[in-house]
Amino acid sequence: MTEPLNFKQELTGCFGQPVAENPTQVMMEAAYRHHGLDWRYLTIEVGPDDLSAAVEGARAMGFRGFNCTIPHKVAVIQHLDGLGESASLMGAVNCVVRRGDQLIGENTDGKGFVKSLRELVDPQDKGVVIFGAGGAARAIGVEVALAGASHITIVNRSQSRGEELVALLNAHVPADADFVLWEGPYSIPEGTNIVINATSIGLFPNIDARLDFDVNTLSSDLVVADVIPNPPRTHLVREAESRGCRVIDGLGMLVNQGVIGVEYWTGTNPDPVVMREALEEVLG
Ligand code: NDP
Repeated sequence: MTEPLNFKQELTGCFGQPVAENPTQVMMEAAYRHHGLDWRYLTIEVGPDDLSAAVEGARAMGFRGFNCTIPHKVAVIQHLDGLGESASLMGAVNCVVRRGDQLIGENTDGKGFVKSLRELVDPQDKGVVIFGAGGAARAIGVEVALAGASHITIVNRSQSRGEELVALLNAHVPADADFVLWEGPYSIPEGTNIVINATSIGLFPNIDARLDFDVNTLSSDLVVADVIPNPPRTHLVREAESRGCRVIDGLGMLVNQGVIGVEYWTGTNPDPVVMREALEEVLG
């Protein structure tokens, strides 16, 4: 049971689909408690037809910001006063921040990913392979390019989505991007430094699903990252570890997007260890 709200507390939250116990809420409130912040993070179910009213409600109630999940990441933009650079490039917002009297849309998914990547490797001048071309891949592709990656290969099952992402990268960020249609076992090419699964393959309940690629091309000098937070020890994570690669699991990205959200909203730099522990408790 959470404590009742009091009107001195600063409010943040997540507008999206309902979930029984929202891991992000548990993680955010663990950070607030740990740092003695009298703040709350509420999970609020908002249907597509109510998004405009929900954003106006957040303004009226003085929310300091909120996250948005599917299906609101694109639709929320028309209700905001402006966008940060990468959110504008991606055309998607997952974190709204009150700056003065304005609500500004940011995208912390890719920034959170790059923050966890930097714990192992600087993406500057690196060759990157990204499986997937959906929202997560778009966020990661833009941010690793802004962080200086020299080459990005997008490997995707559907051609149109893959080519669209490659066109966006080549037009707007300083990285050279190409597309490979994923229609059989993929071999990671020479010159790759970082391999990222940004598909939903491996997400609960399909935990035994595997990426279709030649595991013998996973050399031990690679950094391998998976966006899947549940379960974090995906087949890819375990395979890469067994081959001596350095590995980042999906909790790293989830924690670090939360770290950036808390920084944006509160000005406090929260302890990622506390946040990760809270998440691990919820996700088992
Ligand atoms: P989207 O639905 O936008 O994209 C899904 C991607 O996965 C597409 O590229 C799709 O290919 C590909 N895909 C799905 N199933 C298969 C399959 N069987 N074979 C090959 N390709 C497949 O989802 P998102 O990008 O929003 O999310 C992707 C994952 O990222 C989710 O599992 C989500 O949990 C995770 N995520 C994690 C975050 C974190 O903080 N750790 C943050 C955000 C997302 P196609 O285009 O061909 O359909």
